[in-house]
Amino acid sequence: MPLLLRRCLWCAAIVQFVVLLGCAGGPENNGNNSGAVDAPDPARMLRSGDAAGARHLLLKLSQRTCEQELMLSEASLKLHDTDEALRAALQARGMANDNVVLAHRADLAAGEAFLAINKAEEALAAFTAARKNAANMQDRDRATVCCARAELARGGVEAARRLRNEILRSDIRELADLDRRLAQVEKPSVSPVIVVPGPQGAANTQLLRRPPGKGLPPPSVHARSTWNARPIKLRNEPVPMGKVTCVTVHHTADPNGLPAASFIANAARVRAYQSAHQDTEKWADIGYHFIIDRQGRIFEGRELCWQGAHAGNEQANLHNVGIALMGDFERMKPSEAQSKTLGSLLGWLVKEYSLSWSVVKGHNDVKRAYMAKGTSCPGKHLATLLAQLKQKG
Ligand SMILES: [Zn+2]
Repeated sequence: MPLLLRRCLWCAAIVQFVVLLGCAGGPENNGNNSGAVDAPDPARMLRSGDAAGARHLLLKLSQRTCEQELMLSEASLKLHDTDEALRAALQARGMANDNVVLAHRADLAAGEAFLAINKAEEALAAFTAARKNAANMQDRDRATVCCARAELARGGVEAARRLRNEILRSDIRELADLDRRLAQVEKPSVSPVIVVPGPQGAANTQLLRRPPGKGLPPPSVHARSTWNARPIKLRNEPVPMGKVTCVTVHHTADPNGLPAASFIANAARVRAYQSAHQDTEKWADIGYHFIIDRQGRIFEGRELCWQGAHAGNEQANLHNVGIALMGDFERMKPSEAQSKTLGSLLGWLVKEYSLSWSVVKGHNDVKRAYMAKGTSCPGKHLATLLAQLKQKG
């Protein structure tokens, strides 16, 4: 089925969560209680970046309100006076009493101060409290980002990833930073080495990041780096694959006739699929996990550690490996090399993830199971090949 016409439901669902940023909540108290019109205002100074000026004013006060303690904590943190930042945050927390909004802000401030002095456990406790007393979904998501940062600081990469996946809104400012940190620290769960062969495939050794299986060596795959893949767009909320329970086979149905034979030409073609999926469809990455060209080369598509976008909707994509063969198999037959490679890739997936051959299907069969309309994908000739492979398997 033509690549550009498919839409993935979970991608569309994200749009529903994108709501305009509102006021972060909290009373409009600027902390200036002097009543004088021209008196310097620490809140305004903080907003304009004058942390030192704001701090100076706040420290001169003989008594400070909860709001002023919060400002003092923020200004002190900016000036790397972590002791004062923590003291003021804890003071504010004590003064907040039953005011949930102030308590939430004080817990966040205390968490930041604890993080600044490398007390990740204490930071996590404070952020967790802030998460519990969040007044709305946006505040809760923000606190969740903070919790994930604290988890990362104490080495809890998996816990941080779990928290990240609980965040529903994509308009949280701090999210990109968290995603960057996660991408830096996340390591492959299982790591058979894949050596890329072929004259133009470049001597490249790369780890295949995927859900844990039996650990059997996969067939040779041209890693993403060999076709100059762009990175996955983590802000488009890819879903972790979790486990593998089924496989769906597609054809690319390229309108431009037979794919070219050279590695470079086909690598460019794979890049074009990725561009279409990321730029036009707004997906996180290329939809398929593997692409097989006419010469039988396997290109690594979306990393197998992420759920794909190929079968039709979120349910259909769940734990589902997407394999696309280059060509239009309504009109042509898969080449011998292509057929052989498909057989070995499917054989590996079935063994590695202890699957029954019955869960290996053509796109049409999968789509009919989940949606009202079928598709001509993967084309009659590839459907025939698939039936033969399944029979042999
Ligand atoms: Zn398809």
